[in-house]
Amino acid sequence: MFDVIVIGGGTAGCAAAYTAGKLGLKTLLIEKNIHLGGTITSALVVPAMKSGEHQINTDFYVDLISELSAIGGQATYQNNPGWFNPELTKIALDNLMAKANVEVYFDTHIRDVICKNRHIEAIVISKEMLSVYNETIENQNKALSVSIAAKYIIDATGNCEIGKLCGCEFLEENSENQPVSLRFLMGGVDVPYFAEWLKAFDTDRNVTTVEDINGFIHLSTAYTWDKDKTWALKPLFDDAVAKGILKDHDRNYFQIFTVAGMPSTIAFNCPRIIDYTKTLDVANMSKALQLARKNIFRLANFCKIYFPGFKNAYISNIADMLGIRVSRRIKGKYVYKIDDLKSGKKFEHPVLRSNYPVDVHSDKKDGSTLDIVQDYELPIESLMSADIDNLYVAGRCLSADYMAQGALRVQASCFSMGEAVAKHIKSNLS
Ligand SMILES: Cc1cc2nc3c(=O)[nH]c(=O)nc-3n(C[C@H](O)[C@H](O)[C@H](O)COP(=O)(O)OP(=O)(O)OC[C@H]3O[C@@H](n4cnc5c(N)ncnc54)[C@H](O)[C@@H]3O)c2cc1C
Repeated sequence: MFDVIVIGGGTAGCAAAYTAGKLGLKTLLIEKNIHLGGTITSALVVPAMKSGEHQINTDFYVDLISELSAIGGQATYQNNPGWFNPELTKIALDNLMAKANVEVYFDTHIRDVICKNRHIEAIVISKEMLSVYNETIENQNKALSVSIAAKYIIDATGNCEIGKLCGCEFLEENSENQPVSLRFLMGGVDVPYFAEWLKAFDTDRNVTTVEDINGFIHLSTAYTWDKDKTWALKPLFDDAVAKGILKDHDRNYFQIFTVAGMPSTIAFNCPRIIDYTKTLDVANMSKALQLARKNIFRLANFCKIYFPGFKNAYISNIADMLGIRVSRRIKGKYVYKIDDLKSGKKFEHPVLRSNYPVDVHSDKKDGSTLDIVQDYELPIESLMSADIDNLYVAGRCLSADYMAQGALRVQASCFSMGEAVAKHIKSNLS
């Protein structure tokens, strides 16, 4: 019997497991991949966005920064300490879980959830590594399955997979989907040379930043086909599309920046796939992946042709997980609304405080939202299942409407959600 089982060792799940372990709870963390970090590591999503000056439940975030900094995988750039190295994050998270006495099972798949009277009694996993698992195998060898009981379950799977297995109700299941992105890295870039060119090229500097941090150049720039900014890189994209080097949709969103501890690497927050957006549909997402990898090849070629400093650059990593902004959201004890967020409504038990904007991506030109807001709070009840008494959620599958989720899904907020849920469980058990 564990006090807590956290399912999903990603952004929110790691914060939840670490906090639970540090608070002395007997904690098991179950992850389907072979490393922790979820969207941060598998989908190469860095940096953690700045989320205001008044955040709460930040102990995990602070400890992660310090663990990463100690192994050379963190930078503070543009006043934001959330510039993480995705590979070293895997190591830092292993270290943190060990420090908090969290038991971690990797490469583990949930077979079933035993649920009675609004209560999860146990989860069932296979104790052998099996790529195929079906009823025949189960009947042949009952001993392959093992049930593990816990007082509380935290679903931090992103897609709310445990909630789905329990038959929980979801919000706006058929609502609009946002584009997905498949991120990648290019190595072999002469970053200082590229930075000098970029500074001279984007003379207005309204979308480009460059800083020298302890002798390493850090930079960031962007271009999107939306018309809200004067994008310095626009003529290059127009030329590449005219010459057939890029397709028109390849340039719907382009953002690049440096990575802590990788001095000759550039990270790409793109391509953003607008043609396939059904994030729970296997066939649709498979098409998205195939299309994205073609886009990556064209974008990398574009960089080599148009950007000084990229002559010897190469694609070094393609994310092994699609970056999904929104999918299932559970119906919680409180459904958080965009009006709560915009009015800065206060709650008795806030789990996070943030001012990250309402960032909803669209598949249409000029259709995306980036509404600036004041500090807002999220209540713990938005992380408690309405249907199952001992089930909490943490991360992007929280109980919030579509627009509010667009603000709440960022990493700093996911960290706070995980931490707050663990603290709430500790107080229930005390
Ligand atoms: C393209 C893109 C760009 C973004 N850019 C930024 C940004 O720049 N800054 C920022 O702060 N935020 C950004 N975000 C948002 C943010 O990164 C994510 O919303 C957040 O990381 C999601 O955290 P999570 O814990 O909900 O899910 P995840 O971090 O994805 O964790 C879910 C974990 O659960 C595991 N899992 C799933 N199913 C199971 C199962 N059945 N059994 C066991 N394990 C399972 C997964 O493998 C994964 O490890 C971006 C998101 C996207 C998609």
